[in-house]
Amino acid sequence: MELTEIFGSNVFNDKVMKQRLPKEVYKALKKTIEQGTPLRPDVADVVANAMKDWAIEKGATHYTHWFQPLTGITAEKHDSFISPAPDGSIIMEFSGKQLVQGEPDASSFPSGGLRVTFEARGYTAWDCTSPAFLKEDESGNVTLTIPTAFYSYRGEALDKKTPLLRSMKALSKQALRVLKALGNTTSTQVTATVGPEQEYFLVDKKFYMERLDLLLAGRTIFGAPAPKGQELEDQYFGAIKDRVSDYMHDLDIELWKMGITSKTKHNEVAPAQYEMAPIFDTTNIATDHNQLVMETMQKVAFRNDLVCLLHEKPYAGINGSGKHNNWSLSTNDGANLLEPGSTPSENVQFLLFLSAMIKAVDTHADILRATCATAGNDHRLGANEAPPAIISIFMGEELTEILEKISKGEKISSKDEQFVSVGVDTLPIIPRDNTDRNRTSPFAFTGNKFEFRMVGSAQSIAGSNVTLNTIAAEALEAIAARLEKAKDKNAEAAAIIKDTYKKHHRVIFNGNNYSDEWVKEADKRGLPNVGNTVDALKAFTTEKAYKLFEKYDVLSRKELHSRFDIYVEHYAKQINIEALVAIDMTRKQFLPSVLEYATFLADSIDDLESVEVPAAAPRDMLKKLSAALTSAYKNLAKLETAVKKAQQIDDTVKKAESYRDNVFTVMQALRADVDSLEMMIPRDMWPVPTYSDLLFKL
Ligand code: ADP
Ligand code: MG
Repeated sequence: MELTEIFGSNVFNDKVMKQRLPKEVYKALKKTIEQGTPLRPDVADVVANAMKDWAIEKGATHYTHWFQPLTGITAEKHDSFISPAPDGSIIMEFSGKQLVQGEPDASSFPSGGLRVTFEARGYTAWDCTSPAFLKEDESGNVTLTIPTAFYSYRGEALDKKTPLLRSMKALSKQALRVLKALGNTTSTQVTATVGPEQEYFLVDKKFYMERLDLLLAGRTIFGAPAPKGQELEDQYFGAIKDRVSDYMHDLDIELWKMGITSKTKHNEVAPAQYEMAPIFDTTNIATDHNQLVMETMQKVAFRNDLVCLLHEKPYAGINGSGKHNNWSLSTNDGANLLEPGSTPSENVQFLLFLSAMIKAVDTHADILRATCATAGNDHRLGANEAPPAIISIFMGEELTEILEKISKGEKISSKDEQFVSVGVDTLPIIPRDNTDRNRTSPFAFTGNKFEFRMVGSAQSIAGSNVTLNTIAAEALEAIAARLEKAKDKNAEAAAIIKDTYKKHHRVIFNGNNYSDEWVKEADKRGLPNVGNTVDALKAFTTEKAYKLFEKYDVLSRKELHSRFDIYVEHYAKQINIEALVAIDMTRKQFLPSVLEYATFLADSIDDLESVEVPAAAPRDMLKKLSAALTSAYKNLAKLETAVKKAQQIDDTVKKAESYRDNVFTVMQALRADVDSLEMMIPRDMWPVPTYSDLLFKL
């Protein structure tokens, strides 16, 4: 098949809808998709039937309402199309009702207190703005997959999609107000566009299977560094090995079939680390697609005798993985609102939207940070790795200078052709793509979009985008309110840009975000710097957060609190698993091997001395081994005690704090001991694959 035929071949997209739906039905559905008008039951019936026929022709036997519970991964329950006929045979059926709403047994998904047992039901509702598609497994089983939102009996969001859709609505409304106040009467919708770059590691399946920590915790809890790391910088953008290239090809095909625009692939900085970037799409489609990307990456790897590691920090000592969430705003008539324009009025508009984001990010840095808080991401944010836990915006020198001058009421001199006095005489023409791509910034303006680089590689991007959309809506509303009242719009726009910069410029930082000076400087500027998940998540339960999300009907107080509870609990569970794995591996694998080697050394000493050969070397080796062994043994006992203590704590936050302060720290100490033992023991006596195996034998 040609690539053009493969792409989207498993998607019930616009082209298929046009072909298969009666004109009236197509029109009605389009209206629902584009304007959110309610879908009539008779229309739903026709759509469902067409979807079913299409899916069956492509080999489907089942359909599923696919949703995104608060676990961060996706969920699906498959129902076949079969329905009994009176004569004992079956017919294939799929009604509008089945398409539009489902009722999975939801009692085993986390609800954070939103659902009590007597109303354990959860409902799924079709999100027709994200197209239905076919999921195909290796042996050819095909399932019609319907993207849905998941909510409780009382309508509370139990998932990540519902607030995302709500935030999109809020953002569109406020952005349109600003556009309208500026005289734009043609745009009827504004959507956030998102392009998430996905980093990942690959490891040979046979090594992976021999490491309990990788298998159960997704990261190596132990492991002495390999003699070589990433210091030669020979991996980044390096030639892709055949085996990996085959994998990437298979991955592309699977993604393309589902209409996912996998565009760019390359080697990343660390050994065995890679990246895939799609072409951007609307927030909710990008989010759905990113979930599929993660799932498909893992599935396809397995078929190729590889394992795809999505964890933020699979290996100590080399780079971890993140997700660069590229975010911008686009009108339904195709204008990118964060693109500097070629006319003065376009630039007024650009600078206003830019100002909105400066205000939004400065005001709610704590919430943005919280959206990236997971046990895995703690190994990146604020832990000597990109990016730091301090949120700042990289704006580029030129743009910063322009804002600076506007804020001081200075005229921007026409240094060259580009800088001519225009309209409001303080607003210059903004040079295009003037940014020099500061790679260390957590929130970088890159010419016509922002790149939020804190999101963890294993995370859903929903949470971060819900927050970006909502804080943008809030900032835009304030701008709209001022503009609507003003007589001289241009003068008011200039005043808004000036005021915003004056008040919020502390969040702009163009320097090296990894430096110690920045940590000090950020502290002086009063920017929050929260280095761990439990503390970061507290930003979800402040009055400021409640007010923000309630005002735009994105998340109620209760819904926010439920998320806080679930995420804090998840953190504790994650560390608990890691600790139990650490205990298991130490007791059952490392200690026995070390003892075996100790015995071997002791025997050697005896043997050598019995023939009167000096045994100073093995004696010294044994001494050192024994010292590390004693320390490991002590720390193992400490870890067991710490885990027991943490397990007994009832209060969710206190429990998580205990895992963070006691369990995790002892686990680190145990790791240091075990890693030093690994360095002392012959390779063939070490019971698990080493970093050299995992990172270089691919
Ligand atoms: P890089 O940042 O690696 O140099 P690009 O800037 O070309 O690469 O694109 C990175 C990602 O940003 C891609 O996923 C791309 O689709 C996305 N992107 C580009 N433009 C936009 C936009 N207007 N809105 C959202 N994402 C965008
Ligand atoms: Mg990028």
